[in-house]
Amino acid sequence: MADTLTLPRPRTAAGEVALHGVSRSFRAGGREVQALRDVSLTVAAGEFLAIVGPSGCGKSTLLRLIAGLDRPDAGHITLDGAALAGPGLDRGIVFQDHRLLPWLSVERNIALALRSLPGPEAEKTARVAELIALVGLRGFEAALPHQLSGGMSQRAAIARALCMEPKALLFDEPTSALDPELEQEVIRVIKALADEGRTMIIVTHDMRMAADVSDHVVFLHQGRIEEEGSPDMLFGAPRSERLRQFLRAGGE
Ligand code: ADP
Ligand code: MG
Repeated sequence: MADTLTLPRPRTAAGEVALHGVSRSFRAGGREVQALRDVSLTVAAGEFLAIVGPSGCGKSTLLRLIAGLDRPDAGHITLDGAALAGPGLDRGIVFQDHRLLPWLSVERNIALALRSLPGPEAEKTARVAELIALVGLRGFEAALPHQLSGGMSQRAAIARALCMEPKALLFDEPTSALDPELEQEVIRVIKALADEGRTMIIVTHDMRMAADVSDHVVFLHQGRIEEEGSPDMLFGAPRSERLRQFLRAGGE
């Protein structure tokens, strides 16, 4: 058994995520819904991609496919060139609701996956302490999820997603359930991670954050990429009338 921690290094491991002709449909109430239609997209290693679009346009479906929580009907997804086959520790995901286990402390929630690895406990403890400091939760190691604010819970969820040093970090509307001031504390953590050059993919309604932080923006409409490019292009000079309408409506 290895006596050193088998955590991937370096700390800023970043991977390239690519979708090749990905489609996904669902059958609901006898009706076929095409959630994604032939989506091809490359997120470069270290890039911050924001996915925006109206409710029901396929954003969560896209993120779940990248996370490996669902499979495409057609096409495939690669991480650093290798086809994905289900969920893996090489991707970390944060949802709108924190999904912390209510009976475990902050420290144990964050460390859950790490504890199952072989390796010296002291090193794992140090790593978790580092993550707790990174998300600003020092002093709350022993707290239970119900004792935290929504912003603190989301920050713990981010630390948990980082625990296995994933190549890509995925977020599905991580601040949508938060009050504005708590939203800002979560955004600060997301920005700090973006500055480390990680590959990050975020679904968000927050156009300001998307404009400020992202390198690359995709506007989805009815399961297709309607427009794609730099934040300056999409927010400053949108070409598609649908995107212009969406921005006028404040990103809803
Ligand atoms: P968004 O996150 O952009 O709001 P989603 O990706 O959640 O959109 O959903 C896209 C479309 O697919 C919607 O019409 C939604 O109702 C449908 N859909 C998503 N997941 C399922 C599912 N598991 N079963 C049936 N329909 C689904
Ligand atoms: Mg969604």
